Parts: sequence; structure tokens; C-alpha cells
Amino acid sequence: MPYFCSCGTKYNKIMMTKGTLYKALLVASLFLGAVSCSKHLVNKGIGDKVSETIACERNTKQSDKYVVVLSMDGFRYDYQTLAQTPNLDQIDKEGLSGKFRPCYPSLTFPNHYSMATGLYPNNHGIVGNTFWLPNGERYKLGDRKSVENPKFYFGEPIWNVARKQGLCSASYFWVGSETAVGGLQPNIWKRYNPKDSFMSRADSVISWLNRPEDVRPHLIMWYLSEPDHSGHTYGPEAKETRASIEEVDAVVGHFRKELAKLPIAGQVDFILVSDHGMAQFDYNRSVNLADYIKEEDIKHIATGPFTHIYPKQGKEKVVYESLKNIPNAKAYYKEDLPERLHFGSSDRIGKIVVVADLGAVLFFEPNLQGTYRHLTAGHGFDNKEEQMQAVFKAVGPSFEAGRIVKDAIPNITLYPLICNILELKAPKNDADDKLAKSLLKK
Ligand code: AMP
Ligand code: ZN
Ligand code: ZN
Repeated sequence: MPYFCSCGTKYNKIMMTKGTLYKALLVASLFLGAVSCSKHLVNKGIGDKVSETIACERNTKQSDKYVVVLSMDGFRYDYQTLAQTPNLDQIDKEGLSGKFRPCYPSLTFPNHYSMATGLYPNNHGIVGNTFWLPNGERYKLGDRKSVENPKFYFGEPIWNVARKQGLCSASYFWVGSETAVGGLQPNIWKRYNPKDSFMSRADSVISWLNRPEDVRPHLIMWYLSEPDHSGHTYGPEAKETRASIEEVDAVVGHFRKELAKLPIAGQVDFILVSDHGMAQFDYNRSVNLADYIKEEDIKHIATGPFTHIYPKQGKEKVVYESLKNIPNAKAYYKEDLPERLHFGSSDRIGKIVVVADLGAVLFFEPNLQGTYRHLTAGHGFDNKEEQMQAVFKAVGPSFEAGRIVKDAIPNITLYPLICNILELKAPKNDADDKLAKSLLKK
């Protein structure tokens, strides 16, 4: 499996593929890794695509703090009450816990990149899991070419802030880290491969925290695709989703157990987040948008709880008027969206945005035969909906034990929070620095 470290050393590949030799090789490989990192400016391609000179620098800033952020995709704020989660319960005792409010639209890509940049999706460019540029170019979650094209990503991801200010950073699948935003990536990053087991991801993060001090990342962001996948397939309250919640809890337990063995354990703030919640679809409230608008009037459409439509020139009004009174959803010209959504001025958003009522199913099937059925549950709904709320937990030297934050924390707060912990100067962002500071131990 390809492994992308900007220093270009092979040691990580060895660690990933020869499990039984792992321990024996670890010391030697870390040593080799450190030597090659420190010696070279590596002029090589990242993956197969980008080619540039990368300095795999040592940590030049003095810091005794480390931040590890784990995202558990689609972990709804109340999932902990639906399953056995001893490890998450333990974090609540030892640290701070609360609700995390996603940005609108409550989808995976916009929200992961919001957490990484402190910007609303309207401002960081990833306005949906699928969207089109004014020139017609498409960005889509499953399309590697677009996901790895830096031109789609605005803002300054936190891993670049760390690097620019002298700290090594690493990502294991965080959205936006697979490409060089503003010409820079984390020191360690990986191209998305859902086959990497969750436990092996945890082990890799531990191994990075075990690197020699001068090339040890002070910021690590990693990602698990559950319980989102089970939630979509079986529904938020299904036993299969409960099993996924418990699986993720076990990964967290394993990670914390291994972390506790490291000499730097007491210096690590471990932050757990999710990107949004999950709501059961009600197929009795289905709306086929093709019953209202003509295919020939639109250029593009991305449907779901968040639907946006790019009408052909001159067809904006007719499309909007046709959708104005549809059931189970509300259509807006994007500039008329409620202000609290902080969404609507980017030229990447379709001119017409349709916000589905919670649980309603929006789709566009001009030649539908029979009934439409897709996923059991979904997200992307209004970010104020209770069922779209996510989780936030933080445990480590910067956080108070047993503290519960009552009001939902906007997820963009993660950005200044990390900057405060690692003593980084935060680039301009949309988050509230005062709120971030208030989460820290006095
Ligand atoms: P969604 O539920 O449609 O908002 O998106 C969730 C899906 O995004 C997950 O099932 C992941 O497989 C996928 N995903 C997450 N991160 C990445 C990534 N970096 N590249 C490609 N797909 C990803
Ligand atoms: Zn998600
Ligand atoms: Zn999802």
C-alpha cells in the first residue's frame, strides 16, 4: 500500500507490510527515517501526481505539547447512549465533553475541511461532497482526481499552520490532506484507502508519536469512516450501527492504552470529534424533483438532504418558481438562505439550494420506474437539527476532568483550539477564539 511521507523514506512501508517484524524493525527504521529526513531536501513526487521539492524539516519550534485529533465519521451526539462505550465513557470522566455543531451542509467533506481550516464551507471552497466550478469542472468525493486537486481547497489547513511555524504534522486520511494546499502538505499523509484497518491506523499514529523527538509530529489528525457507513445502511438505531459504535470505542480504547505506554503520554491532548449526526429517512416523504423541474433546464444537480441545482442561463427563475412550493423541503435562491447557515455566496454553490425537512428524501429521477429507495438514513440536513449534532471530547493536560459543555460548540472552533494548545498564531478564520480559549483548563 502506498505510503506518503514527504521525507520519502521507506521505513513506514516496512512497518505497514511486515507486521511480525514490526517491533524488531521499529527502532532501526525510526533511526533511518530520522537520518534521511534530516539529511535531505527530497526532490520527488508526492504520490504519482505532484512533483516538487519538499523540505522534511525537523521541529524547529520548541513545544512540549502534542495534539491528536480523531474523527469518527457520523458519530451522532447521542450514540453513546445507544451502545456500550466504556472507553468513551472513561474519556468523559477524565476530560471535557460536549456536542459539536456541524456547518451547513452537514456532510463529510465540507465539515472535515471546516474543522481543518476554521472556515465555513462557503469560504473554504468545499461546499458539498459534490459541486461544480463556474467553468463546469466537477468536484466529487469519490473522484480521486478532483479530491487530489489543490485548486479546490482554500484556506490554510491546520497541518500547514503547524509546519509553517516549525512543527511537524501528520494526517491519516483527513479530508484535504491528500493534496498540497497552498503548496504544502502534512509531513506525513496517506492517500485514502478504506481497507486500512482501524486498529492499524491507531498503531500507525502511535508509531508516529514514537518517532525521535526532532521529527515527531506535534499534530496528528486521523479518521475512521464508522459509524457513518453503518448508520446510512442500517439506520442510526440498528444493532449493526450499535456494533460499529462499539468497534470505534474499542479502537479508541486500544489507542489510549498504547498512548499511555509512551514517555510523552502526559503531554498529549487527545481530541475526539465527529462531523455530523444521522437521521432515519422517511420514504413516505419522498420528493422526486423531476416531477417539478425539467431536465433540459438544468446544467447540474446534486441531490440529497442538501440539494443544489445549477440551472441553465436564463432558467433560474423558472426552476426556482417550480420548486417554491414543493412538499417536505424549502427551496431558496442561494443568496436568500438564512444567515445562520453562513452559506450561499460562493460561486461554487448551485444557484438554487433545497433544504430538506429532517428525514425527507429528495432525489432527481426523470425516468423513474417503480419506487425510489436508496439509503436507510442520511445527513446533510439543516445544521440546527438535533439529529445532525456531532460529538466533541478532549482529554489531556489542557482539559479539565469531568467537564461537560452544555451549548453545542461550532466545529470550526477546533482550529483556534489547536492553535492555542500548540501556541501557533492562527491565520484569519471564521471561528471564535474566545470560545476556544474557554474550553481550556484555567
Ligand atoms: P458522506 O457520508 O457521503 O458524507 O461521506 C462519507 C464517506 O466519505 C465515507 O464512507 C468515506 O469512505 C468517504 N471518505 C472520507 N474521507 C475520504 C477521503 N479522504 N477520500 C475519499 N473518500 C473519503
Ligand atoms: Zn461524515
Ligand atoms: Zn455519511
